[in-house]
Amino acid sequence: MSDKVIITAALTGAVTPKEINPHIPLTPEEIAEDAVRCRAAGAAVVHIHMRDDAGLGTMNAEKFRKTAELIREKGSDVVINMTTSGDNRASDDERIAHIGALKPEMASYDAGSFNWMPAGVFMNSPQFLEKLGLLMKESGVKPEFEIFDSGMMGIVDYYTKKGVLNTPGHYQFCLGILGGMTATVENLVYLHDQLPAGSTWSAFGIGKDHLKIIYATLALGGHIRVGLEDNVYYAKGEPASNARLVERAARIVREFQKEPATPAEAREILGLKPL
Ligand code: ZN
Repeated sequence: MSDKVIITAALTGAVTPKEINPHIPLTPEEIAEDAVRCRAAGAAVVHIHMRDDAGLGTMNAEKFRKTAELIREKGSDVVINMTTSGDNRASDDERIAHIGALKPEMASYDAGSFNWMPAGVFMNSPQFLEKLGLLMKESGVKPEFEIFDSGMMGIVDYYTKKGVLNTPGHYQFCLGILGGMTATVENLVYLHDQLPAGSTWSAFGIGKDHLKIIYATLALGGHIRVGLEDNVYYAKGEPASNARLVERAARIVREFQKEPATPAEAREILGLKPL
């Protein structure tokens, strides 16, 4: 499995409107169609957010349910990773309702709070993280530890020692958000060096930094994430689509003499049950 690279496609995110890039999928049907396209292009995992009718991030459990059903109805075996953030109007309980109800294979676990500049405070209190961790544990949902800054590694360690989180963990280094760590190779190497033995990990840089972090992550032996949540341009001034970003990532992986993992292989690497 060491020559397999998991490509995660982060399809939608919580904020970017279609006016900026018309390819951003917003409805359950659009998101499911893009998930199928990205799987065909080489993605093994899709990370999904939902939007309300005004295009704003929502934690609406029915939309998550509908999207997951559509992905399976279309015959796709892609691993589904649901967000637990993306609507700053939602209460802690609203942020986790779909996790308990739907028990997705994976879900994001944002391991700390910080000023997401200039939008507001990205709030992930200790009380929320304990509740979310315990819910994921009892629901059999694999957390993806989203790490925006190095102190968050210690928060994951804390809840692991406390028995809230299981090992080995899967980490996603999210670099380049103003208020978190900048998307430099040095920062990526630093975070990589803090990983507990046996962990799996992935990384991305947002915007213009996404390619740099893809190449550096491959060099360090990690998995990669692409998609319109993180980056809306394929090249300067050229709007991307999710499928094109995945196609390019798969080409880069193959040029690196590795192979994009299939969903079944990703499940094995991540310790998930077969579908
Ligand atoms: Zn997300």
